[in-house]
Amino acid sequence: MTNPLAPVLDHIDTQRDAFLGRLIDYLRHPSISAENIGINEVGTLLVEMLTGIGLDAQLAPSEGHPMVIGRWEKAPGKPTVLLYGHYDVQPADPLDKWVSPPFEPTIRDGRLYARGVGDNKGQHFAQILALESHLKVNGTLPCNVILLLEGEEEIGSPHIAAFARKNRHLLEADLSITADGPRHASGAPTIKFGSRGVISFELRCRHASRDVHSGNFGGVVPNPIWTLVHLLGTMKNAEGEITIDGFNDGIEPPAAEELAAVERLPLDLEAFKQGLGLSRLDAPADRPFYERLCFRPTLTINGFHGGYGGPGSKTVLPNEAFVKCDIRLVEAQDPVDILNKVRAHVGKHAPEVELIAEENGMQPSKTPIASPYTAPLRRAFVAAQGREPLLMPAGFGSLPNYVFTKILGIPAFVTPYANHDEANHAPNENMTLDCFHEGVRTGAAVLHELGALAERD
Ligand SMILES: [Zn+2]
Repeated sequence: MTNPLAPVLDHIDTQRDAFLGRLIDYLRHPSISAENIGINEVGTLLVEMLTGIGLDAQLAPSEGHPMVIGRWEKAPGKPTVLLYGHYDVQPADPLDKWVSPPFEPTIRDGRLYARGVGDNKGQHFAQILALESHLKVNGTLPCNVILLLEGEEEIGSPHIAAFARKNRHLLEADLSITADGPRHASGAPTIKFGSRGVISFELRCRHASRDVHSGNFGGVVPNPIWTLVHLLGTMKNAEGEITIDGFNDGIEPPAAEELAAVERLPLDLEAFKQGLGLSRLDAPADRPFYERLCFRPTLTINGFHGGYGGPGSKTVLPNEAFVKCDIRLVEAQDPVDILNKVRAHVGKHAPEVELIAEENGMQPSKTPIASPYTAPLRRAFVAAQGREPLLMPAGFGSLPNYVFTKILGIPAFVTPYANHDEANHAPNENMTLDCFHEGVRTGAAVLHELGALAERD
């Protein structure tokens, strides 16, 4: 039997310029969630687009902006893949830093420049074109597909968890795949198996009712900056260990295949340090680079404010100070539980300090590299791009993948199509024409490999 993927990939190659033209049309429609610009228009446009290629599509209401859902479930016995993306984009400011206007897509030096091209329109549009290409060439899809496009990712996905809990019946799948974010900095194709969670909080300390003279009151009136410095000193030591009571409970050491995967990730440590003007990495000095990013939580002081910072000196004893922090969480750490531990720690070590949590945070997520879907995904990358993908046990930032792993209970994979220097969220966001084209090919190959899985096993 001939390989049904080959004519699909041929079709994608012959349509390369036409697909690019259609992406350019799509990018002309702004859909800025933070400013509520164009969201419903682009949602409606997508429903029409998906219906046009043969999917059963709808705009599904959520507590916020609607979800676009497209489904095709005519392959009984085959796996169902949930393809996630988001149709909202970041605001375009600062406009004067853009070489060409953000919603007038422009090609320069093999790259397409436009707001949302990498994050995430170019990536989910590649998935849509992959679906269209299979349907056009073979009249069918190799596996069942649910396409879920969110309209609030760029404002922190505030409603997707509740939507998934309420609409499980709309999202019943065997695995989820998200094409978002950049590839590895080396340019190699990448599969990510998880993401770190995050929580943010603020610590505030106030002693006297007003600033006082450091001579007339020093030694009598306590200093809130010292109070916070001492408290922070109990939370992380100079060796780099986070010492919040109970913080590290339940953290599992990485699995052997995860350690093997990070060992294969390319790294030019000297270039990295040089690029940032660093003379050393954060403590502890001997911890391997990717182990820090994939398997370890962090406690970051984002800002520390208080007292006098103006010219010269001012012998003042300030009356208040505050510090903002975030914590990146790894699998096994729950944002609410960790926040409670921070609160208990503060209560024990500095009961006069107030803790204000900004939000409930985002859960971490992890899918084992040993998943049965890893092999077909790798084969798909090789078929589409001619290269083995790098396997990253965790993305370093935070994505709402816990919605798939923890709420829907399915393995979740991230297969980024954008170039590592896509400048997402920044002026001159771009995607290389090659990355977009390879994205369509990869999307098509992934569907094919998932469809072949049932026959193989
Ligand atoms: Zn983004």
